[in-house]
Amino acid sequence: MAEAFRPGALDPAFFLYEHYRDPRVRARATQLYYRAKPLLPRRLQLDLRRAFVPVQRRQGFPAWPIEPILVDHNHEQLRAQLRRSGAERIPFVGLWPDRKRFCFVLTHDVEGPAGIENIEPVREVERAYGFASAWNFVAEEYSIPRDLFARLRTDGCEVGLHGIRHDDSLFRDRQRFETALPKLHEYLERWEAVGFRSPSTHRNSDWMHELPCLYDSSFPDTDPFEPVPGGCCSIVPFFFGGVVELPITLAQDHTLFEILRERSIERWLEKGRWIIEQHGLINVITHPDYMLSSTRLDRYRELLDFLSGRSDGWHELPRNVARWWTQRAQLSCPIEPETVRIPGPTDFAASVSYAREQGDRIVFDV
Ligand SMILES: [Zn+2]
Repeated sequence: MAEAFRPGALDPAFFLYEHYRDPRVRARATQLYYRAKPLLPRRLQLDLRRAFVPVQRRQGFPAWPIEPILVDHNHEQLRAQLRRSGAERIPFVGLWPDRKRFCFVLTHDVEGPAGIENIEPVREVERAYGFASAWNFVAEEYSIPRDLFARLRTDGCEVGLHGIRHDDSLFRDRQRFETALPKLHEYLERWEAVGFRSPSTHRNSDWMHELPCLYDSSFPDTDPFEPVPGGCCSIVPFFFGGVVELPITLAQDHTLFEILRERSIERWLEKGRWIIEQHGLINVITHPDYMLSSTRLDRYRELLDFLSGRSDGWHELPRNVARWWTQRAQLSCPIEPETVRIPGPTDFAASVSYAREQGDRIVFDV
């Protein structure tokens, strides 16, 4: 496949919408996994997924943990534009408000009763840094305490929908998807939620624009280890029609610690530093269900420590990042502005950034 990926000749949509993936292969692999899964003890499921790691690592594209193809493509485009215009720099609407260099969101998928029980210890860690997070729940998989959503919101957090059941049924075929849409809508409304995270990141890029939500966050930028391998190759949000996609850009905690058996958060930090360098979105999923030990909570604390040490990061709830991205899409950048503003009560502090060449690199002045 590699010869098709010539920068300049490529269409970003081919990667964003995962059109490089063979839908027959992806459907077959997923179905096999999900048919076998209920029959296998959890220990064996984990062993199977670990045994697959060398095969998955060999897939080659998208590269893991960093796939730079769309970052490189964007730089190529800017370089060409700079050379064509003869200008020293090109203004564009800054990627993030408040003149921030990068953005980060903390998200959690609650898989079962153990996760429900373990929300507070995770929140305690986050609260110490003044961070808020999004909590995604499965609607019909386990019981959710009546006052939990209100408590989370009072605590500054956001509630999102992690599917109706935690399986691959939503995207298995068109009929199931269409039948599920009103139910998704109903839960989102009842929960006052605007965000969706598909169970096990099941997805179909041709249907995401029909989801009745403000944003989806089911596409990794690159992840060969999930039941649905692949990724959108993007470290900034993009659109499926009117639905904002907030790509998942760090490895999931389960992948890192259970499947790859990493002992440190070096993978998170390495990727985090690259995303910051590229002005991207750090979007991490951790599961309270797997954060039961003090060691695991310590790993998470180390990540938050890293993020809180940066004054140039925009920390927000995903719903506000999605609102910003929607509003940003309405803005254009006049030739010589100092600032651009979004009118109205939902104002974010938008500003102008500049792209310029520095040696053989493209850099952004925020
Ligand atoms: Zn899940």
